[in-house]
Amino acid sequence: MVYIGNHLSASKGFLAMGKKASSLGGNTFAFFTRNPRGGKAKDIDENDAKALMDYIEEHNFGKLVAHAPYTMNLCSDKPDIRHFALNMLKDDIERMEYTPSQYYNFHPGSHVGQGVEKGSEYIIEALNEALFEDQTTTVLLETMAGKGSEIGRTFEELQYIIERVDLSDKLGVCFDTCHTWDAGYDNVGDFDSVLDEFDKVIGIERLKAIHLNDSMNDRGSHKDRHQKLGEGYLGSDALAYIINHPLLQEKPFILETPNEDDGYMNEIAWVKCLSEY
Ligand code: FE
Ligand code: FE
Ligand code: ZN
Repeated sequence: MVYIGNHLSASKGFLAMGKKASSLGGNTFAFFTRNPRGGKAKDIDENDAKALMDYIEEHNFGKLVAHAPYTMNLCSDKPDIRHFALNMLKDDIERMEYTPSQYYNFHPGSHVGQGVEKGSEYIIEALNEALFEDQTTTVLLETMAGKGSEIGRTFEELQYIIERVDLSDKLGVCFDTCHTWDAGYDNVGDFDSVLDEFDKVIGIERLKAIHLNDSMNDRGSHKDRHQKLGEGYLGSDALAYIINHPLLQEKPFILETPNEDDGYMNEIAWVKCLSEY
């Protein structure tokens, strides 16, 4: 069983997203916890959240992969931006409990000049403040392309953070196929070795979700520009290999490709058709 879906707008509520995912042929989805550029989150309608949880159970969905706003920079050099980001993170993790036991993915952040180590310290501090013992959500750090001063462009950078967080059992990783390629990992020529390295550095059990994207740029470009599946430098064969990798089965695959609904429908159908499981 392959779990595949795309990013959906949260504007019509939770249950509407579940139904929308089904209408596109999907059985998981991603959504922004608030406007991707930040700002205040709207109030949660508890009944709507419950209705979605019933819906995804009835329809055998995979884990949902919520996404923090892009503007949430936990490791900014500016204290007010860090403070703003931490409040957002705390609020989001609390809100995720209305849709229990799903995933919440965030970009570790951009250190903007003060260095990876200092930046990582800020991220660790923030996670230590925000995570709580009874939470059911697993918080995912996303593998990044290494654009600008992004932290998380190597497995080592992610592991550095993970192993320093007290409640690290609440943490996992979201593997973005475009980002890791742009960061320099050979997802086309030797994907087995990439996962092997992930396992050695982080531990494969931390790999919880995949962002399934092609890339507009060549390996190591650090550009982070997503392409439609099969139309970029990764190509159909590599993506098909990734979808069918034994170590990635039962995990949610989320499309973040430049598409409208019809394009997503086609890609979802393509993934399901290619899946050997
Ligand atoms: Fe992302
Ligand atoms: Fe991504
Ligand atoms: Zn990206």
